[in-house]
Amino acid sequence: MKRNFDIITKAITQSRIDALDESNIPFGKLYSDHMFMADFKNGEWQDLCIVPYENISVSPANTTLHYAITVFEGLKAYRNEEGGVNIFRPDANAKRLNISAERMCIPPVPEELFMQALTKLIKLDQAWVPSLPNTALYIRPFIFATDEFIGIRPSENFRFMIITCPVGAYYTKPVNVKIETQYSRAVEGGTGYAKAGGNYGASLYPARQAKAKGFDQLIWTDAKTHQYIEESGTMNVMFVIDGKLLTAPTSGTILKGITRDSVLTLAKSWGLEIVEKPVAVQEIINAAKEGRLQESFGVGTAATIAPIATIGFEEDIYELPPVETRELSMKILKELTDIRSGKVSDTNGWIYKI
Ligand SMILES: *Cc1c(COP(=O)(O)O)cnc(C)c1O
Repeated sequence: MKRNFDIITKAITQSRIDALDESNIPFGKLYSDHMFMADFKNGEWQDLCIVPYENISVSPANTTLHYAITVFEGLKAYRNEEGGVNIFRPDANAKRLNISAERMCIPPVPEELFMQALTKLIKLDQAWVPSLPNTALYIRPFIFATDEFIGIRPSENFRFMIITCPVGAYYTKPVNVKIETQYSRAVEGGTGYAKAGGNYGASLYPARQAKAKGFDQLIWTDAKTHQYIEESGTMNVMFVIDGKLLTAPTSGTILKGITRDSVLTLAKSWGLEIVEKPVAVQEIINAAKEGRLQESFGVGTAATIAPIATIGFEEDIYELPPVETRELSMKILKELTDIRSGKVSDTNGWIYKI
């Protein structure tokens, strides 16, 4: 049952693409020419349009400004070998957006609307998909409440938007992380599994405290005992110990990463032993002390693989083997890069061609 959505386009008169220097892209600062917008009113999504990227206006009593009734997604479009554009697993993002939305009393966006809006927008702005290694067009779909009302109740009006920006490498070097045992990112029964705006605002203060002590990023632990590792910053986190790939199962407090799923799928297909179980901090520390912690890395759309150089826990810093020796993470990164560029065949149906 395919439904076609009527999306009206108002194109720019003059592209800003001359401002794009592919070899030096400032992360998240330069946005492509167009954006998609739709409004939810009277119980349905309407006024679907693609317009020039520009400021939008909201009421000072906008419910999102006060209560963070907002969810988002993040995915990327890559330049492929033939010069075309490949989007990586957008159907998974469309589904997850609606899982997040439900938690915030935001109405779902039909998956077909998501896909049609995305396709039309990326087609129009395809010149903005960079082609140098480690570059991509980052795509940010988001929904927020637009009621003009300062009472606290589920909103009735919403806006769904998609904006895009070309990006280069997210982290340029392996990161130094700190295992956080005071603050929490997510609690059982909370919103950790949702890409809900408030989660990220609330993570800034602890991250800044860690930065002041010289760490790049936090490793979050469970809020109850702080004895189990959950995520690293805004990425899922994986470890290689004794040749096995270890990661926590997704749960109410751990976001179900699409990169995480892709990495596990590849590793499984290579016959690697995967252990998906709660990851005790002590297990990681012991392995590090005994020289059995071979690799550790964050996995997420922004960086794909972010190698962890050192892990700080309590008063100690544990150094991991040099990145050049990390066979598994390098192999995964290469495979994902090659699938996205079309260099190797996409046997999992992950590539959506524009
Ligand atoms: C987005 C996100 C991830 C990674 O998800 P991907 O789908 O792989 O990009 C992991 N953890 C958190 C908290 C996130 O917000």
